[in-house]
Amino acid sequence: MNDEEQVPVRADEGTSAAGTWLELSIECDQEAVEAVSEILSRAASGGVSVEQPFTTEQEGLAASPILGAPATIRAYLPAIDMAAAEKAIAETRERLGHLTAFELRPIGQLQVREVHEEDWATAWKEHFPVMRFGSRIVIKPTWRDYDPAPDDIIIALDPGMAFGTGLHPTTRLCLVGLERWADEGIVEGASTFDVGSGSGVLAVGAALLGAAPVRAVDTDPIAVESTNQNAARNGVVVLASQGSLPIDNGPFDLVFANLVASILVELAEPLADTVRPGDGTTGSGGRLLASGIFIDREPEVRRAFAAAGLRVVRREQETEWVSLDLERPGP
Ligand code: SAH
Repeated sequence: MNDEEQVPVRADEGTSAAGTWLELSIECDQEAVEAVSEILSRAASGGVSVEQPFTTEQEGLAASPILGAPATIRAYLPAIDMAAAEKAIAETRERLGHLTAFELRPIGQLQVREVHEEDWATAWKEHFPVMRFGSRIVIKPTWRDYDPAPDDIIIALDPGMAFGTGLHPTTRLCLVGLERWADEGIVEGASTFDVGSGSGVLAVGAALLGAAPVRAVDTDPIAVESTNQNAARNGVVVLASQGSLPIDNGPFDLVFANLVASILVELAEPLADTVRPGDGTTGSGGRLLASGIFIDREPEVRRAFAAAGLRVVRREQETEWVSLDLERPGP
């Protein structure tokens, strides 16, 4: 995602005063979404968006809709002619009032605030610092300067809308795990697979540490694009495609799966199949780093992996998130 894509309307299409817009927002029940969007769209030349409520805390990686919770409708109008804008807002309130009279479910209060395109496009970037993981992996947001230390492995990253900034504990656990693998000497030249690559942060990090070839899949096309862009940005090759398991190429020496517990359980068998089997002795098999495991779900994930023939080598935890480093010892 670039800056232009984050503003609601291109400045040359609208008539906003120096990129200032009025944002109208309102919460409403799912059943009223269509009618409320329609009413807001009459006032808003800058477009209307519907934000569905998702759970992101418990299972922070895979958003799932919260059934029955209200949606937020946002609409934008240029703040150039305030008299016209105020009239449009008054009309919107009136129409919403009529709607409430007929709707069975309640509609929230219409909120109005001023937003500035520039703040908007860059606000999130302020919360994204240069971050260090383990002793030498560093994520450097593309818009920040950083003076590298001699041993640093620097991942230049612009995650855009894809998951994988390094701000989330589950990603951090994977990067620390990657560094540990590198310290064990098993990353250089290792065939590597990243299931659910998001921004590509893990695949790119592995490639920078010498893993090759590196394959990545993600069900989300935005993530695939982000992975490709971040690989190019770092001058490494990651073969990214849209999809999931099973995968034809493989098995791989190293596999990352930073997904959620429920998906790890569901994919335990095909995931284990992507890991190179050893000769039956400890230390001879390929490795899987499974992350995104909310602590309550850990026993379930462990059972699924054990049944799929994987052995836990190491466990790490940050806050309530757990990662498991597993080996496929083989027959
Ligand atoms: N690897 C990154 C991103 C993890 S977020 C990191 O460690 O930060 C999880 C990603 O997995 C998301 O981009 C999501 O789109 C993707 N995903 C979710 N379920 C998937 C599945 N069944 N197969 C492949 N990708 C999946």
